[in-house]
Amino acid sequence: MSGRIKILDEATITKIAAGEIIERPASVVKELIENSIDANSQNIIVEIKGGGKDYIRVTDDGTGIDENQVELAFIRHSTSKISSIDDLNNIHSLGFRGEALASISMVSKVETLTRARDSTKGIRVFIDNGKIVDKQVIGCPVGTSMILRELFYNVPVRRKFLKKETAESNYVSDIVYKLALGNPNISFKYIKDDRLILKTPGTNDIVSNIYSILGKEFIDNLLELNYKDDTLNIKGYVSKNSFYRGNRRHQYIFVNKRWVKNYEITKTIEDCYKSVIPINKFPIFIFFIDIDPSNIDVNIHPTKEEIKFVDQSKIDELINGLVIENINKVVTIPKVEIIP
Ligand code: ADP
Ligand code: MG
Repeated sequence: MSGRIKILDEATITKIAAGEIIERPASVVKELIENSIDANSQNIIVEIKGGGKDYIRVTDDGTGIDENQVELAFIRHSTSKISSIDDLNNIHSLGFRGEALASISMVSKVETLTRARDSTKGIRVFIDNGKIVDKQVIGCPVGTSMILRELFYNVPVRRKFLKKETAESNYVSDIVYKLALGNPNISFKYIKDDRLILKTPGTNDIVSNIYSILGKEFIDNLLELNYKDDTLNIKGYVSKNSFYRGNRRHQYIFVNKRWVKNYEITKTIEDCYKSVIPINKFPIFIFFIDIDPSNIDVNIHPTKEEIKFVDQSKIDELINGLVIENINKVVTIPKVEIIP
């Protein structure tokens, strides 16, 4: 059906673009938590119902959004995190594309409660199809709460392709666990269908954070590795040679607190284990890499799951050295007082 070429209206463009970053409830949860992290929150509460298809709520105690900025936040390409292309060389936040809230509000019914730190009152806005349909002044604590209802109610094809409730809620859990693991300084609460599923201490103690998320077996079977120079800090927890799994579920890499996939690092670590664990089994690892942001490119993927290191081989060599050196040691990470 060819016809006249026309430029699509903004609402249609945003709805199409939304598909790129909002694929399922878990994508919404990821974007909302990342916003809460970027807002310097100490406490983040994630609630879902019906696998997130019916209800998602993320509440934080971060900076909040200024009353007269709320409308802007939902417009596409609006962000407080960068101002120019040069800022991309020095990204300290998880977000910067200014697309998440615009996308989310085009494909679900959104309610936002927010109060900025220096404001005496909060506001509540309702957004539907990307537009503010109601706005009220309310009393609320400092921070932001984003509530989403009926994801993809206006994009039936997307809704139809969502999986069953349990499968979708597993995707959500996966993302909550990853973000909680990568941010030990923040206390996360995760509530699924009114049941508290996870609570992390938020004390910035990596080991007690791992304990609260993955449990005692992990703490007892991981080795701690450390490397530090002027531009790079690597902290890794890798499995002892007697601890492995039949899949890669428990392999985590965080770069500047961002969970990323990095095939090279994964392969480097797995190669180290080749001769020590059975074939078709996979080591467990949690790596925290803090690097000068000018040494990475985070803008190569819409959901930013992949990044590029300026010097990938330096990272691979360092990690290879650390793992090889420690893999056969029997020492474990120091025992800590675990406060459940
Ligand atoms: P990005 O995160 O890429 O900037 P978003 O669409 O996710 O884009 O958010 C747009 C803007 O809304 C952010 O830049 C931020 O200023 C504001 N914002 C969103 N969520 C929060 C939050 N939980 N707390 C404070 N500000 C927020
Ligand atoms: Mg964002």
